[in-house]
Amino acid sequence: MIKKLLIANRGEIACRIIKTARKMGVRTVAVYSKADENALHVRTADEAQLIGAAPAADSYLRNGRILSVAKEAGADAIHPGYGFLSENADFAELTHDAGMIFVGPPPAAIRSMGLKDKAKEIMAEAGVPIVPGYHGSNQTPDFLKRKAYEIGYPVLIKAVAGGGGKGMRKVGKAIEFDNALDAAKREAMAAFGNDVVLIEKFIESPRHIEIQVFGDSHGNVVHLFERDCSLQRRHQKVIEEAPAPGMTEEVRSAMGKAACDAARAVGYQGAGTVEFIVDGANGLTLDGFYFMEMNTRLQVEHPVTEMITGTDLVEWQLRVASGEKLPKLQEELSINGHAVEARIYAEDPNAGFLPSTGDLVAMDLGEEANGVRIDTGVEQGDTISPFYDPMIAKLIVHSSNRDSALDRLEECLRGAQIAGPVTNTAFLANLCADTTFRGQRFDTSLIDSKLDNLINVAEPDADVICTGLSALITLQQNKIVHENPANSTSPWGMTDSFQLVGGRELDWNFVMDGEEISTRVKFEGTDICVQDDNDRWVYSSACAKAHIKDGKIYVLAAGKQTLFEPKLYQPVEEGGTANADGIISVPMHGKIIAVTVVDGDEVEQGDILFSVEAMKMEHAVLAPTDGVISNISIATGEQVENGFPAMKLVVSE
Ligand code: ADP
Ligand code: ADP
Ligand code: MG
Repeated sequence: MIKKLLIANRGEIACRIIKTARKMGVRTVAVYSKADENALHVRTADEAQLIGAAPAADSYLRNGRILSVAKEAGADAIHPGYGFLSENADFAELTHDAGMIFVGPPPAAIRSMGLKDKAKEIMAEAGVPIVPGYHGSNQTPDFLKRKAYEIGYPVLIKAVAGGGGKGMRKVGKAIEFDNALDAAKREAMAAFGNDVVLIEKFIESPRHIEIQVFGDSHGNVVHLFERDCSLQRRHQKVIEEAPAPGMTEEVRSAMGKAACDAARAVGYQGAGTVEFIVDGANGLTLDGFYFMEMNTRLQVEHPVTEMITGTDLVEWQLRVASGEKLPKLQEELSINGHAVEARIYAEDPNAGFLPSTGDLVAMDLGEEANGVRIDTGVEQGDTISPFYDPMIAKLIVHSSNRDSALDRLEECLRGAQIAGPVTNTAFLANLCADTTFRGQRFDTSLIDSKLDNLINVAEPDADVICTGLSALITLQQNKIVHENPANSTSPWGMTDSFQLVGGRELDWNFVMDGEEISTRVKFEGTDICVQDDNDRWVYSSACAKAHIKDGKIYVLAAGKQTLFEPKLYQPVEEGGTANADGIISVPMHGKIIAVTVVDGDEVEQGDILFSVEAMKMEHAVLAPTDGVISNISIATGEQVENGFPAMKLVVSE
């Protein structure tokens, strides 16, 4: 058995591999970039080595550097995870040459499956059904266009070196072909340095169904059934499940056999996935599935297979790589229940799924119990950096049947507390509840066709606002009392006679998701309640939870985050006061009800400087920047004009 394993990866998959290695008594060596110095995989491995700067090309893709770190650490094997160097045949070969085990297939098998055109050719020879199309070497645009015509529109242009949905274009009719070909080639050249393409018939009602295969060095090949990954956005998987809805024993064994044939044809060893595109128009049939590609590595969605088969595929990988036989043969494998995985990303569905970065103010996906599994590479306080894939976690649920697994997954997603970066959690929860998905009549177009519904999340309700404001007001109150306990003029210090008792009502101004809002608030003891659209008073319930960092409040409810910030009154430029001089003016005609600073005070942005009451509404004027206070010319009880210069704030160095 392998004794010391270097993991040439990061994030959740590195942490996932460490877990199994530890269970098996295998020592682990993590590698990390500058951006990952404090990452969870570095904290949990037995040893860790810095391998370079943040960009992947300067760290996680440096095969020479990784190999020398492995040698120096005395590792006898390297696990590449997925992505990065996992499907790099040269790296696998160099690992062998350096006298270490590559936890993956033989380099020749990686090469055979590395390019989609060559792979299709090998599969056709092995009798595995392939998608009708052209995958030859003639790349002349006119020739390719003629082929597309012969195949029959719609067709799919695919980069042979493609992956992650890049370099792919669907073409509906002939007049669109030339532009689509140019675009696919341009994208492929930029992403893979190879612009060779193939043309395929576009399968109508396409479903993505893949088979997990495993081979050992003793000539055994088994499959661990299928996964359905038809829920995709831009050809990238979003939710995966096993088994596939509507699968029959007959089709399953035909697809399983085709996948094992594919693996045997390239002398496969280790974990691999054979991806099929399935024509779902008339249900799953014996002649309705076609080989698409083989991924010669562990797949992101491998946990759903582990849960329905009760296996640990990383353990299988380490055993097989050490020369052992497969832990189970085909007859010993069976399916138990149903498993679903959702990929939680730091991305904003309402902004075109743009990646979101930043500190994880909260990161709590609940307990790993009763069939719930959480695979992640981050914890609260960690940072989602812009350098790598913005996946935060995979939430996986196993249950006795599909509906209860989806119910549970939705429940976990709605209760998830991930604050800081914007996430796709509510979008995923909506997807779990989608009737077409529930009804099992879906194909890969589901997300696109229902996008508006799926990204549509209710506006923050009174409950969310109440939770946010309670936290915001408490925060401001604590800050003032804590930092300035002796300041008896502080409205927050004077809880006895000021406003936080006696059911006092006022309009509270704040900023919610970047927008200025005013809401009627009532103080009742230490609680507050807010008025909803129907003028009813609403208290915060247990459904919405607030998380606080750097003077900002992140409220999570049903998987959706709402950001609350205090309203900062900018110095008003009316009345002859100049911004540039640092003069803070009174923002409205009214009565000064509190001055919370004295000359010489050092304040931070957001600290309360003074409060004005106008039309029974109270406004706290907050420091627009950090600085030192001087020239205070207002006092409690005074009636002042809009624009009256209240004090000066000199920005501190
Ligand atoms: P497919 O490539 O068929 O979509 P997966 O769903 O398993 O298969 O996706 C894996 C992809 O994730 C890789 O091909 C790669 O583009 C991307 N990736 C690479 N490295 C990482 C990483 N460390 N964390 C998350 N995703 C990664
Ligand atoms: P990648 O290497 O980028 O994962 P794939 O060949 O696996 O590329 O295809 C990615 C996705 O594109 C599939 O999961 C499927 O949704 C869609 N797709 C691929 N080939 C076809 C096809 N012939 N017809 C319809 N959809 C397809
Ligand atoms: Mg694929």
